Amino acid sequence: MILNAQELNERLRFVREQIAAACRAAGRSPDAVTLVAVSKTHPPELVAAAWQAGQTDFGENRPEEAVEKIAAVRAKLPGAPVRWHMIGHIQSRKARLVLSRFVLIHSVDSLRLASKLSRLAQEAGETLDVLLEMNTSGEASKYGWQVAGWEESATLRQTLWEDVRQLQALPGIRVRGLMTMAPIVAEAEQARPTFAGLRRLRDALAESFPQLDWSQLSMGMTDDFPVAISEGATIVRIGRAIFGPRL
Ligand SMILES: *Cc1c(COP(=O)(O)O)cnc(C)c1O
Repeated sequence: MILNAQELNERLRFVREQIAAACRAAGRSPDAVTLVAVSKTHPPELVAAAWQAGQTDFGENRPEEAVEKIAAVRAKLPGAPVRWHMIGHIQSRKARLVLSRFVLIHSVDSLRLASKLSRLAQEAGETLDVLLEMNTSGEASKYGWQVAGWEESATLRQTLWEDVRQLQALPGIRVRGLMTMAPIVAEAEQARPTFAGLRRLRDALAESFPQLDWSQLSMGMTDDFPVAISEGATIVRIGRAIFGPRL
């Protein structure tokens, strides 16, 4: 299904209204939440149409698809300051592709990747803003630091805290907060403990590492974003509710 511009406009407006409503219900300002429209699998034409409808931030989960799409969108919208977010796993040998393209990399999922990005960014003379991805569900299919049960497990905390200690010394990358994907659940409410847990983890890290910026919490997708907002999400990553089913 490829949406026409009017359908896309309506879907974007509906999502923005839901974000605003969730913010109001939580006593938060709607400006406190950035909407990242996840355009993976969708053509550059649809990104351009969403930009025309006022959407500024877009997310891609595969470095190669992103590189192509960013170039194609740039050709369609010369000079437009489209803001791209990398939200998917970055294989070591693809790391170079994320330089100079993204306002934020949500998916730094290991110290090894952080070190690699640090080295590449330094060589390129740039600084990458990054989020640390947390595997809050314990699912083997997900990337990120294993933090399911971190409040009960001193071992899990030690591992993460030690990695952050090393991370904070890396030049070329700037930590901005945490990201997670909630498990797929029948009811959005069931994802609430995951989101609340990520917020508490962020607060604990901020207390231990006050010299880093922990302000951003990237959590919430099509099926669960109102709950994520009520638990403090500052960035929601929404694909299907905006662009329809993935192609
Ligand atoms: C695809 C994807 C999303 C968006 O998912 P929807 O369910 O389509 O909203 C968000 N975050 C990540 C990391 C993704 O890969």
